Amino acid sequence: MSAPLLLATRSAHKAAEVARIVAPLGLAIATLADRGIPPAADEEGIEVFETFRENALAKAVYFARLTGSAVLADDSGLRVDALDGAPGVRTKRFSGRDDLAGQPLDDANNATLLDRLREVPDERRGARYVCCAAVAWPDGRALAALGSVEGRIASEPRGEGGFGYDPLFHVPALGARFAEVSPAVKDAMSHRARAFRALASRLHSSPWPL
Ligand code: IMP
Repeated sequence: MSAPLLLATRSAHKAAEVARIVAPLGLAIATLADRGIPPAADEEGIEVFETFRENALAKAVYFARLTGSAVLADDSGLRVDALDGAPGVRTKRFSGRDDLAGQPLDDANNATLLDRLREVPDERRGARYVCCAAVAWPDGRALAALGSVEGRIASEPRGEGGFGYDPLFHVPALGARFAEVSPAVKDAMSHRARAFRALASRLHSSPWPL
């Protein structure tokens, strides 16, 4: 396995998922915390775009320039049909609770989603998770790839696994919520796994070394 690549995230859940996903591809990751990179005030201004692709690329390029090495990043979220594709790039802050983080933020976001879909019948509760995975080099070169997974928003949470909206995200192909299946089952078909696998195959055929 090659030297660990920096993954530009401060989410422990996301880092654990990406580490599991890329290990079979021969990649190891280190997080911002592992490298002792403290949060900076200008980080708030990185993910300001209207697409997952632009946000993932912006994050990867910012940290590649900061560290002088190749950096991986992702941006992800939920698109709900009955909400015209919202919350999209605003998924993490759907509840508007800027004062919360971790599980309390996930709980507030899930409560907001259930509330917004209160009147929406089962047949109109289609949704998908979307992820863009990106890698950037300090000189600004970059590659990106998208992945998604189709599901439905259930009307009550179930399961203890995963994170974020997983207790509400029912995957018909599994007959279960993402929070009810093992990490290996989620990784076999998640938006994040699909995006990072597609990125790895682009990296494989790229002439740019990591
Ligand atoms: P970001 O990619 O860090 O901007 O965060 C996207 C947000 O989307 C997360 O905070 C979660 O709320 C949600 N999200 C993204 N991927 C997943 C997933 O695999 N399970 C549950 N929620 C997710």
